[in-house]
Amino acid sequence: MCGIVGYIGEKNCVPILINGLKRLEYRGYDSAGLGVLTNNHSVVIKNKGKVSLLEEKVQKTNLSGKVGIGHTRWATHGVPNEINAHPHYNTSRNLYVIHNGIIENFRTLKKGLEKLGYVFETETDSEVLPHLIDSFLKKGNPLFKAVRLALTEVEGTYGIAVVYEGEPDKIIAARKGSPLVLGLGDNENFIASDVSAILAHTKQVIYIEDGELVEVYKDKFIVKTITDNEIEKEIHEISMTLDEIDKGGFSHFMLKEIMEQPETISNSIRGRILFEKGTSRLGGLTEVVDRLVNSKRIIITACGTSWHAGLVGEYMFEQFCRIPTEVEYASEFRYRNPIINHDDTILFISQSGETADTLAALREAKLKGALVLGICNVVGSSIARETAAGVYTHAGPEIGVASTKAFTSQLVVLALITLLVARRKSMSQVDGRAIAEELMAIPDKINSILRLNDQIEKIASEFHDANNFLYLGRGYNFPVALEGALKLKEISYIHAEGYPAAEMKHGPIALIDENMPVVFIAPKDSTYDKIISNIEEVKARGGRTIAIATENDNGIDSLVDYTIKVPSTIRMLMPILTVIPLQLLAYHIAVKKGLNVDQPRNLAKSVTVE
Ligand code: GLU
Repeated sequence: MCGIVGYIGEKNCVPILINGLKRLEYRGYDSAGLGVLTNNHSVVIKNKGKVSLLEEKVQKTNLSGKVGIGHTRWATHGVPNEINAHPHYNTSRNLYVIHNGIIENFRTLKKGLEKLGYVFETETDSEVLPHLIDSFLKKGNPLFKAVRLALTEVEGTYGIAVVYEGEPDKIIAARKGSPLVLGLGDNENFIASDVSAILAHTKQVIYIEDGELVEVYKDKFIVKTITDNEIEKEIHEISMTLDEIDKGGFSHFMLKEIMEQPETISNSIRGRILFEKGTSRLGGLTEVVDRLVNSKRIIITACGTSWHAGLVGEYMFEQFCRIPTEVEYASEFRYRNPIINHDDTILFISQSGETADTLAALREAKLKGALVLGICNVVGSSIARETAAGVYTHAGPEIGVASTKAFTSQLVVLALITLLVARRKSMSQVDGRAIAEELMAIPDKINSILRLNDQIEKIASEFHDANNFLYLGRGYNFPVALEGALKLKEISYIHAEGYPAAEMKHGPIALIDENMPVVFIAPKDSTYDKIISNIEEVKARGGRTIAIATENDNGIDSLVDYTIKVPSTIRMLMPILTVIPLQLLAYHIAVKKGLNVDQPRNLAKSVTVE
């Protein structure tokens, strides 16, 4: 998920690696480290926090060497600290591995390795890799084969790079589900998770694909499949500028993050669905699941976009888990002396895990003896540490201030929790499987929505001069109306309100005229006919209308000015689809107004003040 860089050649690799890591900083990370092979030994230096701190530490050592690897970590397993930072090593400390991604079966692998006498130092999933590779080296295999065989036992995602004192003339790198490129130089070669880390040195790259390994020497390389077949690779010439590359070729982080959602949602789901049983497996809740299932009430507490995710969670928990659920703004919850009982579960949702109001509410709830759980994106964050248990969203670092991919991953995690709890209560296996199946289909459906980007951009050009916007939805899509309005407010500074569609007649209808665009979230579900009546009411008053509708709903086209069609899914998951066009609409409107989309005025990414 984060950054990898490696060098082999005639120069001192240390400044090359440090600069490469600095180029990767934009992706967000929590710690960094280097592993360098020097003339007669190898050195690892790691640090929590910024690459500049790592650099200071390295400078004190006069470290130098011609082969090395560097890593920025975005923790998924184990808090961000020095020991959990990469590279990880074997017991003899002569083999070093950096890893991006998640090793799903690390617990099983770890148990097996512990039986063989391997001792683990860190809390990470990644540490199984050096020990596993070591176990194959001990059987007499050369390094490349040892890495290849080790990877045949690994389930999950990885981009890895390995160096070994015993074979100091090479770096082995491999990929499955995490990006990896090989950079070609003159008597030197590079590997990186992202071309921006090596672009200062070379523009000639080879993209390593899933299931491939590469043996990199300073003057040659061999690419093989994990099944040991050598493959020819094409060399690509990079023509993008560094700025373009940082944003993955997109003009803003927000757009990159919107477009990443098929992948980030896959990461949130990965390894967590037990399809046969029609349920989910959430390691972080194992110890508390009985208490959660037996809760008399769930209170979801959050701020901003996470609060909207909480509202969707309320619908899910009440519909399927049959547990009364309330959703509270963290700031209100903490100050109004809420009634909290021992059999309540209080679930805190926060992308950063540092939201000051949410953290304060959490401390208050703990004091009252409730079960406190967290849904966070940042591993080891304050909320993650202070809750009794929880689930990480695994959406990867979110840089754009307006949350997009973190929101959809929160919805996925709420659906996974629903599945876990509901299956322990009244949900049948068949119903559980149907939900699991729909969840697994979500990334592809999002891909098809993202293909509507050009259409949505055109709609945005019709509306970017509006001063007000109304968003209306019902049921599961009422929180989506709120979220759509919030996105627009945050980045385009257009005043926007979200309402449950039926509330329109209790006030907002007074605002409708030809200057008021109204966005209806109108998928074909049990409230569809009622939403259609609301559309008619707006039309009758001259309002301009956009509908987010379901594919194959041709009837709606003649009722509204613009329609954006999304694939259908079950009601509980529909918000994950319907919110995507609203993210894109807000994005394009803000861009057309010439605004700073990634850093809107007055807003901070992580609100660590009250
Ligand atoms: N899962 C690994 C860890 O938590 C790697 C995280 C990353 O991709 O940076 O250490």
